[in-house]
Formats: sequence, C-alpha cells, structure tokens
Amino acid sequence: MYFSKSFVPILKNNPAEAKIKSHQLMLRVGMIKQSSAGIYSWLPLGFKVMKKIEQIVREEQDRIGVQEILMPTIQSSEIWKESGRYDDYGEEMLRIKDRQNREMLYGPTNEELVTEIFRSSIKSYKSLPQMLYHIQWKFRDELRPRFGIMRCREFYMKDAYSFDINDDEAFFSYNKFFLSYLRTFKRLNLSAIPMAADTGPIGGNLSHEFIILADTGESKIYTDKRIFDVNSSSTLLEKNSLTDLRKQYEKFYSVTDEKFDQKEFEKKVPEEFRINTKGIEVGHIFYFGDKYSKPMNAAVDFNGKKEFVKMGSYGIGVSRLVGAIIEAKYNDKDEIMKWPISVAPYHCAIIPMIKKNDITNIEKSNKIFEYFKSKNIDAIIDDTEENISAKIKKFNLIGIPYQLILGNKTEGDLFEFKEINGETQRLSIEDAVSQILKAKSN
Ligand code: ATP
Ligand code: MG
Repeated sequence: MYFSKSFVPILKNNPAEAKIKSHQLMLRVGMIKQSSAGIYSWLPLGFKVMKKIEQIVREEQDRIGVQEILMPTIQSSEIWKESGRYDDYGEEMLRIKDRQNREMLYGPTNEELVTEIFRSSIKSYKSLPQMLYHIQWKFRDELRPRFGIMRCREFYMKDAYSFDINDDEAFFSYNKFFLSYLRTFKRLNLSAIPMAADTGPIGGNLSHEFIILADTGESKIYTDKRIFDVNSSSTLLEKNSLTDLRKQYEKFYSVTDEKFDQKEFEKKVPEEFRINTKGIEVGHIFYFGDKYSKPMNAAVDFNGKKEFVKMGSYGIGVSRLVGAIIEAKYNDKDEIMKWPISVAPYHCAIIPMIKKNDITNIEKSNKIFEYFKSKNIDAIIDDTEENISAKIKKFNLIGIPYQLILGNKTEGDLFEFKEINGETQRLSIEDAVSQILKAKSN
C-alpha cells in the first residue's frame, strides 16, 4: 500500500471537540468519522485496528470451545415481552416499527434472542454444555454519548452465552470465559483486571467486570496492587484449575464503586497496596441462572424431568477497545502512541527519500514491501513528496511501531531502522525483519 493512495485523512490540529486522548487521536489521524451523535464510520486505519482486535477476541473464544454464530441486529419485541425486559429496558432501546406496524428493535444485547434460538433446538441435557457467541453491532440510545467510540450509541460487541444443566456446570462455563478474557486482554497487551461487579439490568448474582486502569475511565475502582501479579499463563481448561484461578484473583479486594465499602477496603488491603483510581470497562461477564430460561421456557429433559437451563452471558467491547488501547498506551511524556504490534494498523512504515526523476528508492521500497509481505509483516510505503522528517513525524503521530528509512545515510545493504520510540539502528533487512517478527511472537 502506498501512502499517497491510502484513505488516511490526517487533520493539522487536534479537534477541539475531543476531550480525551483516544478521541483526539482517532479523529486526528482519520481512524473514524462521526456521522451523527454517537454514531461513527470506521475509516481504513481504524477499521484495520478493530478487525485485528476482533480476530484476537474470536481466536480466544474458539480456543475455549465457544461456537460462533451471527444473530441479526434487528429483533422482534415479542421475545423481550416474554422475558419482561421490553418495558424495563427503557429509553436506551431503539424501538422501530416495520410496515406491518410490528414492533421491532435494534438489539442492545442478545439474551432473549439466543435463548429463543436455544430453546427451539436443544431438547436434551446430553447436548449440554452449549456456548455460543457472535460479534455484532449493538445500539443503545445513551443519554450522553461521549468520548468518541468509547461511549457511543452504535458499537461493536462480542457477546457470548452459555447454557448448562446445573450451577456447578454453569460455574465451569463461567470460569472458562474468565480465563479466556484474561488471555484475550493479554494478547492485546493490556492488563485488564477482573473486578466484582453489580449485575445491573442483565440481572443475576455473579459478575465480573474486566477493567483497565486509565485516568480518563468512567468507572471508579478500588483494588489491591497485588492482583496485577497473579499469574494465569499455565491454567488448564479443567474444572479445578479454573476454580483455583478465579480464587487467586478473588483473594484480592477489587471492586467498582457500586460494590465499594470503605471499611472492607481498609481492612482487606494494607495501605501500601491500595489503589483507588479510575478505569475503563472493556469486558463484563455475568452468571444469572434461570433468569431468562424460566420466563422464556428454555428447558431440557433430564432423565424424564424438565430442567430450566442455567445461563451466563459474556461481553467484550470490541470497538471500545480501540480507544481503550490508546488511553492505556499513549505516552504523555513523549507524546507518542505506539500501537501494540498485535493490533497495529501496520507493523512498519517504509519511508523512502524521494528525489526528483529518480525512482531508485521507490523500487527499493517495493522490493522490501514484498519481502515483508512474504514474512507476514504488514507495511505501508510513504511515497509522498514530503521530506523525511515530516514523514517520520506523521508515522509518530499514527503510532506505527517500526520505521524503515531509505535516506541519505542508506548505503549498501544497511538501512536506518527504528522502533517508534527507540534509537535509530543501522541494520540489514533480514535483521530488521527478525526484530519485527520477534516482537510479533511475544
Ligand atoms: P457501561 O457500564 O460502560 O455503560 P455496560 O455495563 O452497560 O457498560 P455491558 O452490557 O456489560 O455494558 O456490555 C459489554 C461491553 O460492551 C462493555 O464491557 C463495554 O466494553 C461495551 N460497551 C457497553 N456500552 C458501550 C457503549 N455505549 N459504547 C461502546 N462500548 C460499550
Ligand atoms: Mg457492564
């Protein structure tokens, strides 16, 4: 891809309407464009990042055995009347009438629809457990959409649902998701911590929010520093290990403000470990038993007896994560955003000095581009006529993790190569590739 042909509408200055870094940067480098209040188009750069996040989320769902489906955005009101949530959900639900005057809605979440799908197909406990997920747009008519795609009205979410025969099996499913979330956020280079949370309008009795610390977050959190050191890397997908894993986290006091209790906090957390700050909710898991299966009559046959299935639901804010990663990774001191390599829109910018009537550097860049491609390195060639330092500035702004420069000092087989926030090195193309590949594999 040549930069001159890419659709990356960079603004000269930070847009005045944006209050937080992620919103500023996403508008500034043309990742998104607002189309109406709380509704955005995703432009190539932003869309690339979101797709990479989506793919990591997907792989980590598949890895614990959740099956992917795709439910529609538009739902019928009937099932919401069955669960009793049609009235409860209130003004956040976008209600629509079709030409037959039927009440439809744009799904804010999918507990009802997935329960309907389940109950019409699964009849025996022998088909349990079932775990289904989809990645789909949601609409919530937020009272005050703000901070760009962090709190918007139309957003992209991964939501999963589990169906089990009893509480014990359902906790096993819940804990699988618990592990899967830890793995997902780790691959996104985020330290998201699980916090005991209120269940809100979804209802139920067991719930964790996954939160990353950031001053600009909207959740108030109270936690114990030591929770960041819990190691989840070698956990097996097996009942006891998963129970142990959750216990290791739950050992440490860690809650959002709805569950906060000053006395408990002070009693359970020694002063030097207390963290009282703000965070961004990037995921939320719930266990709610038969809250939906009972009113909606989703039951299986268990040795001749009818059992309502026990359900949980599990969300990840895929589009919110794009902004959350910026909030977590932006370095205020150097004023540099460095995208984690796992989700960077491009791994490396190839920056040739362009001289009049001389295409040598473009030809060299093309060769490097092809070589990178053969190594699964995603690159962009800046073929514009800007000078080298303007180009470097531009990629510093966008946050591409690596830069390869073909300039005055390029001689023979050595290139100027740097990590966005690092020192310039003089390397062969093979050495540059192996640095990028090493970062990718970490
Ligand atoms: P919040 O407390 O931030 O309003 P929520 O608790 O209502 O979120 P859930 O129903 O748990 O949200 O949805 C799952 C995930 O979807 C959240 O963890 C969050 O990452 C994302 N999400 C929820 N609402 C929005 C929104 N308005 N804009 C962008 N992402 C959102
Ligand atoms: Mg939530």
